[in-house]
Amino acid sequence: MVHGHDPAFSEMVVTAGEVKELVDYAKSKGAKGINLVGLCCTANEVAMRHGVRMAGNFLQQENVVLTGVVEMMCVDVQCIFPALSALTDCYHTKFVTSSPIAQIPGSIYEEFKPETAFEQAKKLVRMAIDNFQNRDAAKIYIPDTKQKATVGYPCEQIIKHLDGVANTHVDELGSYRPAIDAIKAGVLRGAVAIVGCNNPRVRPDYSHFEIMKELLANDVLIVATGCAAQMATKAGLLQKDAKYLCGAGLRRVCELVNIPPILHMGACVDISRMMLLASGIARDWGVDTTQIPVVGCAPEWMSEKAVSIANYVVSTGIDVYLGIEPQVKGSSQMMELITEGTRAITGAGYIINTDPHELVKSILDGLEKKRAGLGI
Ligand code: SF4
Repeated sequence: MVHGHDPAFSEMVVTAGEVKELVDYAKSKGAKGINLVGLCCTANEVAMRHGVRMAGNFLQQENVVLTGVVEMMCVDVQCIFPALSALTDCYHTKFVTSSPIAQIPGSIYEEFKPETAFEQAKKLVRMAIDNFQNRDAAKIYIPDTKQKATVGYPCEQIIKHLDGVANTHVDELGSYRPAIDAIKAGVLRGAVAIVGCNNPRVRPDYSHFEIMKELLANDVLIVATGCAAQMATKAGLLQKDAKYLCGAGLRRVCELVNIPPILHMGACVDISRMMLLASGIARDWGVDTTQIPVVGCAPEWMSEKAVSIANYVVSTGIDVYLGIEPQVKGSSQMMELITEGTRAITGAGYIINTDPHELVKSILDGLEKKRAGLGI
């Protein structure tokens, strides 16, 4: 199991797990092979690049250990429960930390160094294989819930799919014109980037699901990253079949372009991909990024990184809708700054509502306001 955020460490562990010598070693120990799985944003990274299966999002990290079949959990930084150390002690699972800034008492510490990364990863995979024999059959419980998903839609893939509908690939950057035409025609009302975490303050994944469902029904295309994207995976929304949830316009676009209604763009740090998408759409439209009917939404945000990601989106001139109140409510000045004050500087701000249905309503109103501003 790889877990965390730094794609370099997980990339090495996954690559080591694909080495024939180690796969043969696992078989010599009575295993069918090496099963690598991912958690949190690292899961998004290795799913996109290697097809490694996702085991769950943020609030499921303990559940994964509870299956009793994890020989080793390799973590790097952020979103790692310190309690994993005590929990893995109750099982045969080896818990490996790898970053000097995120060592956890009780873990095996293997400081990840770029120059020896692959050798270190192979050593860890071998250690995990040796641990296979220590599984306790009485503690094994694997839920049979599985979902298929199509993952990995960076900007280049989106353009490639749009090119399949109408070849407008005018330069090396490609063009979003078919998508823009669909927005102008009203077939698509706009797009929403749904990002971020699970938050223990609310029922996990509930807001994500409700918001996604309602936006799809209202012909709004969704791009997703982070634990929100993993929720969409679990709910089967990253499959082309999920178009049954869409309004007639979005359904037609998904059929024509041959895409699922929610496009998986990667880990939470891949917000940069989303901002490239937004700036590319604005460029091809010939308007400013602040004008296009595209917004960000973090229904269950939790981490400090989610805060910086959302600030990046607001700084780019795109409104962000939050489903969890920010912890600055004690200051009326701060609240005024983040909801209205930034508008004078960047053209965007935060809109906050803890009721997912009301949040969708304000997102739809926001998109329609942008459309009206563009005269469409
Ligand atoms: S989306 Fe949030 S909770 Fe999930 S891995 Fe990223 S920072 Fe952590």
